[in-house]
Amino acid sequence: MSMPDQEISKNIDGILKGDRRSLSKAITLVESAHPEHQEKARILVDDLLPYSGNSIRLGVTGVPGVGKSTFIESLGLELASQNHRVAVLAVDPSSRRSGGSILGDKTRMTHLSAHPNAYIRPSPSGGTLGGVASKTRETMILCEAAGFDVIIVETVGVGQSETAVSSMVDFFLVLMLAGAGDELQGIKKGIMEMADAIAINKADGDNMTHAQKARKDYENALHYLSPTSAIWRPVVHTVSSIENNGILDVWNTVLEHRKNHQSAGMLSVKRQKQAIDWMHDMVEDELKREFYNRSRTRELLPELTRAVEKGSMSPGSAVRRLFKF
Ligand code: GDP
Repeated sequence: MSMPDQEISKNIDGILKGDRRSLSKAITLVESAHPEHQEKARILVDDLLPYSGNSIRLGVTGVPGVGKSTFIESLGLELASQNHRVAVLAVDPSSRRSGGSILGDKTRMTHLSAHPNAYIRPSPSGGTLGGVASKTRETMILCEAAGFDVIIVETVGVGQSETAVSSMVDFFLVLMLAGAGDELQGIKKGIMEMADAIAINKADGDNMTHAQKARKDYENALHYLSPTSAIWRPVVHTVSSIENNGILDVWNTVLEHRKNHQSAGMLSVKRQKQAIDWMHDMVEDELKREFYNRSRTRELLPELTRAVEKGSMSPGSAVRRLFKF
């Protein structure tokens, strides 16, 4: 249906040949707020969709300082040396304020970013979490079309960003630290329930025994949580990203999970469901945007808000007024 102009078809050819400049240019269009760029981006993504999907999509989360970038660099270098082509993307809704708190700092992953088989792209900035996540999903499609066969999506363990990332990847890895006394805190439960594997990082030096103990604790705790799928029990590893220990064990777990799910036909089912969920999320975002942009909403919302604030009108009546034409 789309009629790509010459510039777009040149861009598409470039991406399919694996040309990085074409890829970066397309991602910039995807991230742009300009309506004309968005239209071009839609055409690009639609046209490249048939060439996408051929990668292992791995999500990595954990609190700041847990060692995400060190881990990703270590794993990424290993995979790149095995001739995988590795793209590292990020979902960081806070980057709007901080100017890029993950991946924004150019000194991170210096070895990996210099590797010819790797491509690192910081989080799109601005907008809602839904908007940021949606752009990262589209970027993932472009990277796959450009021949990247491992896509790592990093997110920081704040807000809802883990949920957003876990719903765009095949495998969700949670990095944890031992000995912080927070092993079984309620706050972690939600994250643990999304985990296909937990890796206790910094299992080195004096921290080794703590890490082994934490591993047992997490293994026990996981017994009480519902697993991420009917055919998978989450695995707990100890790793040292700095000493490069245990990284390949984590990767083998990713491969095992993939093999299981592929042979049971569950990988494609999972991805289909993710695509549909994504569409529904976008419908909700669009509805909200449309509603708040309506002239009726803009006219009435301030006075209705004041009335609710003063207690002269109930929230329910205010909402009815907003929706009644
Ligand atoms: P991020 O904020 O989660 O991306 O964490 P970083 O990768 O930036 O790591 C935070 C700090 O922990 C850095 O000083 C790293 O050198 C250190 N670190 C990361 N992984 C390990 C590890 O396996 N062992 C030890 N001892 N330190 C680590």
